[in-house]
Order: sequence, then structure tokens, then C-alpha cells
Amino acid sequence: MRYSIFGKTGYRVSSLGFGAMNLPGVPLEQAREALNYALDQGINYIDTAAGYRNSEEIIGECISHRRSEYFLATKTSKRDYKTAKEEIERSLVRMKTDCIDLLQIHYVNKVEEYQAAMAEEGAYRAALEMKEKGYIRHIGITGHRPDLLARWIKKEQFDQVLFHLNLAQPFALDELIPELTRLNMGKTAMKPLSGGFIQPVAKAIRYPFSQDVHVILSGMVSKAEVEENIAAMREEVGHAERAELERLAADLGGHNCRRCNYCSCPVEIAIPDIMISSQIRKTFGLLPKGDGFYQNNKEKILSCADHEPCKEKPLCEPMCPYHLPMREVVMGAADYYKVSGMA
Ligand code: SF4
Ligand code: SF4
Repeated sequence: MRYSIFGKTGYRVSSLGFGAMNLPGVPLEQAREALNYALDQGINYIDTAAGYRNSEEIIGECISHRRSEYFLATKTSKRDYKTAKEEIERSLVRMKTDCIDLLQIHYVNKVEEYQAAMAEEGAYRAALEMKEKGYIRHIGITGHRPDLLARWIKKEQFDQVLFHLNLAQPFALDELIPELTRLNMGKTAMKPLSGGFIQPVAKAIRYPFSQDVHVILSGMVSKAEVEENIAAMREEVGHAERAELERLAADLGGHNCRRCNYCSCPVEIAIPDIMISSQIRKTFGLLPKGDGFYQNNKEKILSCADHEPCKEKPLCEPMCPYHLPMREVVMGAADYYKVSGMA
């Protein structure tokens, strides 16, 4: 594990951060063991969100007695002043703390959302007010559009950004990470496994670990997962390994999907999952998570080719800011069932 100074915040943070999003899905005693073990092993960055079911309460219940040992980050996805303020107040109570180290404006992907949060009566003002009163130490922002985030941080209203960085989504390296470094801001990378599509864990985690970020947030739910993630960061990444990981990322990122979720599909095809997993499948074949996904989504994926309104002009494609060929990729994904004998 590596430690570094988290931009202007001045905190010395561990390179592995505990993503607490999935803790509500496991028994409380398992969550308690995972969180306490993580702290025992030197992980000192815990990340959650008001919107992650009762994740904040689990943190309050399991580790608030060790509050001085971790940097605590949460998020509000509210956009207006009143509801954001209420949500921040609720987060303080749920996490049994009198101060949140980092409050992030959550999942800001569109210009309209950013404008709403930053307006006079927006969520940012609520965060600023809570900061002035001492309930929040720093304000950050999270999103899936690295190009827009790189633009939004220029006014220096934020101390940190949380963004995707993994072997299948290396896009934050283009503009966002250099800009964050220039502004001496906190850099938190999320989804090293891309939701489980990229494996093995060791390789997946070592890619963001080889890059210019402070914290890699990994969603963990057990002591064994904490151990596995820590082991992946035991040794620094050398030149040859970094070059190999970067070559792989250039290949796996070839789909160009940022997971911005601007697109929607009338038959509920999970377009970004298919864009990303199709590229991974070409290189690695289907991994357990991808296989389960394809099995569960077979009817929907196969229906794309026959969806009458999309035959002339795919309904999803005009929604994509990157002009990606989504229908072609989804129809290509359907070939998997022929190859795998699942047709
Ligand atoms: S082209 Fe396929 S994925 Fe796109 S909207 Fe139509 S059915 Fe959905
Ligand atoms: S396909 Fe395009 S619109 Fe859909 S999530 Fe990916 S980048 Fe966004």
C-alpha cells in the first residue's frame, strides 16, 4: 500500500479506499469485520453515499468508534439547496459523526445537472454552508464525463473529483487527471474492476495503481476481498508492467463508451454494459460476471435486431455524445449466443 497527500486537503491517504456501496447486501457482522479489518490493515479512506441504501448507517454502526482513523467521504445526489442540506444533515446522523471529510456532489453527468447544483439555490451552496459551519471539510464532485469534469473544475470550487479509471475505461487520463494534477486536487479513481467485468483482480487493480491517482476505490464486502485488494498493491508497478497494462487499456478502451448513461433503450438493453463487455470479451473471452450478464440478458440482447423502430435509424444512437455505433455492437454481442451454444 502506498500513501500520498490528497491534493490541497493535506490528508495522507492510503492508495486503496474502501468502497462501501455493496455493504448493505451482506450480513452486518460480515460488514463489521471487513471494515475493521481494512482499518487494521492501514486503509484510511472510506467512501459511501446517501443513496447507497443503508451503507452510511453500517459505517456509523461498525466503525464510528474509530472515527479518527479514517478519511470519510460521502455524497449527495440532490441538486437543490434544501434537499441537499437535509440529506447532508441526515448523513452526519447516520454515520454517527460530527464532520464529513469530503462531501461529493454525486453523479453529475450533464451540463443541466451541473448548472442546477451550482445555481444560487443549488446543492453546492448547501455544501458550502455546511463547510462554513464545520460539518464538512472538503467538497468534491463525481461523474462519468471526464471531459466535462475537466472543464467544471477550472473555477477551483472543488477539492477533489471521483472518476472511472480501469483497464476498460482509461479516458480520465486524457484531460481530467492532468488538470487535477495541475490544480493540486484530490484524485479518486473508482470501479477498478468495472463492476466485475475485468479480472483477475490483481491485474485490474494494478492498472489504476500504476497511474497518477491518490486513491483507488474498490467495492469490498468481506475480509477476503480486502486481503485480495491489498495484496494487489503490495509492490509498486515497474516500467515494463506499466507499459503492458497501458497497451491492454488502449485495446480494452477501444469501445469508447464513458458509461455516461445518456442513452436509453425501449427494450431496456443495458447498452453501456454491452459496449464495455464486448470489447473485454474480444480480448479475454467472457469472465464469470460477463457470462452471468449475458445469460440474464439474452432475450433483450437478441431483440435488438428485430426492434422495428430501430431498423431504419437506431433510437439510441443520436443520444450518444461520442456518436458510437451502439446498434452494431449490441447486434454483434448477440453472436455470443451462437458461439457459446446458448442460442
Ligand atoms: S438499436 Fe437496439 S439498443 Fe439501440 S435503442 Fe434500438 S433496440 Fe435498443
Ligand atoms: S453508449 Fe454513448 S451515450 Fe451510452 S453510455 Fe456509452 S458513451 Fe454514454
